[in-house]
Amino acid sequence: MSFVCRFAPSPNGPLHLGHAYSALVNHAAAGAASGRFLLRMEDIDTTRCRPEFEQGIIDDLAWLGILPPTPPRRQSLHFADYAAALARLEALGLLYPSFETRTEIARAVLAREAAGASWPRDPDGAPLYPFSRQSLPEATRERRRLAGEPYVLRLDMARACALVGAGLSSPLSSPLSSPLSWREAVAGPLAPPVNVPAEPMRWGDVVLARKDVPASYHLAVVVDDHVQGISHVIRGRDLYAATAIHRLLQLLLALPDPVYHHHRLVLDGEHRKLSKSTGAASLAALRAAGASPDEVRALIARGLEADAA
Ligand code: GLU
Repeated sequence: MSFVCRFAPSPNGPLHLGHAYSALVNHAAAGAASGRFLLRMEDIDTTRCRPEFEQGIIDDLAWLGILPPTPPRRQSLHFADYAAALARLEALGLLYPSFETRTEIARAVLAREAAGASWPRDPDGAPLYPFSRQSLPEATRERRRLAGEPYVLRLDMARACALVGAGLSSPLSSPLSSPLSWREAVAGPLAPPVNVPAEPMRWGDVVLARKDVPASYHLAVVVDDHVQGISHVIRGRDLYAATAIHRLLQLLLALPDPVYHHHRLVLDGEHRKLSKSTGAASLAALRAAGASPDEVRALIARGLEADAA
């Protein structure tokens, strides 16, 4: 099997050291396996993504010595692919429109917490969707959809898991063991993978198509990894738990499963994940301040030490 990996940033800001590390790990793995390294622009959020950030990413990668084939795959050019995947899930009876605003959802969570027990959170710490497909009659959903009310499409997680025989393991029900798993190359991108049990129920009824965008990260990433022939998904540990959703979608859409490797994160001096919101220095700023690619590698190594600490 030929080795194909990808670096898939969202062009909604400049790259920082964490991105650089991910790109370097992918690139090195492709080199070691005599495989291919592809670039993908995850730009479905067309309001936040900008051409100048895209060019910045290409320039930063080139500066690091990484020259992916051009042009990169741009998700915003492939909404028809995501619509086809949604249609397939819809045909399986696994999607439902949900009309609540963020405020209504937040209020419902508060109300449930005020009533007693703390409301379950997903692996990223966000409260689970506090309603369900059964909260509204199908006919009402259909009427509101046809009337043009804005909605997101949610995956009926319990039904989806039942369809693939993954059992009902949810924070909202009693946990049962799940036969669903993904292949994780734990020791390094090219190491032999082990099976990791996947627990998509922990995420609740995730959104697969947004109000403003007819797709979502989870849907697009699964479709694109298939379309681009990705054999190895190499990305940060922050996406480890989300892999359960991706594996479930692959099964539902009858797509092959890549091997995964979730690498360590580059943390800042305060052990926080680097991000725009914590003011992480961009590669462009480091470059402008005269840093060399080797100095950037040294800074990454320091951030990885913080992760190990
Ligand atoms: N676009 C995602 C990010 O920038 C990465 C998605 C992935 O590697 O699966 O965090």
